Amino acid sequence: MTQADIILNRLCDLQGTNFQVTDVKVTEHQILWQVEHKEKAVFVCPCCKAELSHSHDNRWITIQDVPLGRKKCVWRVKRHRVLCTCSLNVHVEFMPFRSRHHFLTQRFVDFIEQTLCSKMFTVADVARLFELDYGVVYKIDHEVLLRLIQQVEIPDPIHISVDEKSFKKGHSYVTIVTDTDTKDVIWVSAGNKKESLDQFFVAIGADRCQKIRTVAKDLHQPYALSCKEFIPQALEVPDPFHVVQRLNQAIDESRKELAVGSVLPVNRRKTINNMQWILRYRQENMRPQHLAGLETLAKINEPLFKAYLHKEVFYEFFEFKPTEIIEAKEFLVRWIVGAFQIGLKALTSFAEYLGRHTEILLNIVKTQRSSAISEGINRKISVIKGMAYGYKNIQYFMLKIMQRCGVLGSLWKPAFH
Ligand SMILES: [Zn+2]
Repeated sequence: MTQADIILNRLCDLQGTNFQVTDVKVTEHQILWQVEHKEKAVFVCPCCKAELSHSHDNRWITIQDVPLGRKKCVWRVKRHRVLCTCSLNVHVEFMPFRSRHHFLTQRFVDFIEQTLCSKMFTVADVARLFELDYGVVYKIDHEVLLRLIQQVEIPDPIHISVDEKSFKKGHSYVTIVTDTDTKDVIWVSAGNKKESLDQFFVAIGADRCQKIRTVAKDLHQPYALSCKEFIPQALEVPDPFHVVQRLNQAIDESRKELAVGSVLPVNRRKTINNMQWILRYRQENMRPQHLAGLETLAKINEPLFKAYLHKEVFYEFFEFKPTEIIEAKEFLVRWIVGAFQIGLKALTSFAEYLGRHTEILLNIVKTQRSSAISEGINRKISVIKGMAYGYKNIQYFMLKIMQRCGVLGSLWKPAFH
């Protein structure tokens, strides 16, 4: 073997294998490597790894390797099939350099995995970058996430937040548990039932359950039942983000009620219908045109205008200090009475909801847990949902959340080949 041959084999990581480079053709856009068995080589059975001296048949196949600069690298490999006594079947021989599931070299798959796990590129980006089929990169991404999830150890959480997130336009849900100290998603399971959260508590075990001090969550009944069973000692803290979200929904429903089902003149109903975004803004963030819209609203529909102002007042609840529990409670009661007086159906039912959960809501003031985490994660998940092609596979969606919002992404190591 000449010095040049040794270098070529090393470039392909073929030293120490049964294979060697027998030809290289360099064109403008690609490098074509021809790879064959060494003379007097043995053929390895993929099942029992027995070394056989005869091959059943052979043919040329093409696999893609890591590009060299801007040149695509293609290997033409003469691959054999073997007939082994272990199964009496004909199998494609074992090739140490080839990925098991794709027409790619294993080192190329490693490189793609690493690129995907950098969290800087989407599947679509990587497919474009390496001129690969989207489906192939998607499969590699799914496989690497499945492999990494096996290595994840759930950290010991003290303060957690539980969230449900819709998947496929609300047809199914996933349950997400976040460590509110590290701001990492530490658990995702399918569904939004009691069992979905039970799975998390079972996974971390009774000892670690006992260490959980607070749980922030929407006042979603199935989760409450699960918490009561597994972490009865933890203080239940509704997530302020969810409370505000419900309030915004109540205002929005009131708007729709007036715009669609009321006896108001048509032009007023139209104006009210267009107020959706204005009503969602905080007054302090409003631009002049929004303020003008608000003034119009004051003229044409007093109840909805009052409801908006009442919503603005509600934010003061989050500013009470742990020493001001009595004041916070009085504030809440006054706010509820005020909401009833406005007389809009959706706002009234929100006020009733606050009335039912007053004691739990006061835990927000007692513990001073912030809502920013849940909001941030919600935003990231929306980005994941918005990525090209959507997520048809719920398992992949869950893994992707663990990767983008959790600890999964930083764990990448090549698989043991
Ligand atoms: Zn065999």
